Amino acid sequence: MQALQIYEGQYHIAKVEPRSFVDGEGVRCSIYLSGCPFKCPGCYNLHAQKFTYGELCTDGAIEDILSYCEADYIEGLSILGGEPFCNMALATEIISRFRARFARTKSIWVWSGFMFEYLTNDQRRYSMLQEIDVLVDGPFVDRLYRPNIPFRGSLNQRVIDVPRSLESGTVIDYM
Ligand code: SF4
Repeated sequence: MQALQIYEGQYHIAKVEPRSFVDGEGVRCSIYLSGCPFKCPGCYNLHAQKFTYGELCTDGAIEDILSYCEADYIEGLSILGGEPFCNMALATEIISRFRARFARTKSIWVWSGFMFEYLTNDQRRYSMLQEIDVLVDGPFVDRLYRPNIPFRGSLNQRVIDVPRSLESGTVIDYM
């Protein structure tokens, strides 16, 4: 199946980090969803390319994730992969419950191999994009790898302010 046609995923989660200091601004809860079809050479998370890697996510696991986000020092939730936009059954469930509990008082960052422009033109993925505050977009490109660029692995990737970009109709860098 083509990457563009994989929407729902297998509802598996590879890893949860209740307190991360590297996946976005501030201290955040980070979750890694299992399954990515892009197969970028040099992928930093090879095992999580498999859609059934890790554990089948449960209602209790989602509640645990939300409870990790409750602490005042947690700025928000970071969703990585795998590919969140090919795991939309799980990603949208977590995002909708996160917004129901925290509204916009805490932020959502998402890392995706899809580019922002593509996501705005895919109706199903666009509805998830609208719920995100910051998108780090584009595939990892090994020859553009640079160490120590904040929140990205390679120079082609962008850290995008999603609400402002959607409002203006043009990509606006978050940083
Ligand atoms: S998009 Fe990310 S998770 Fe998917 S293959 Fe590329 S580097 Fe790995």
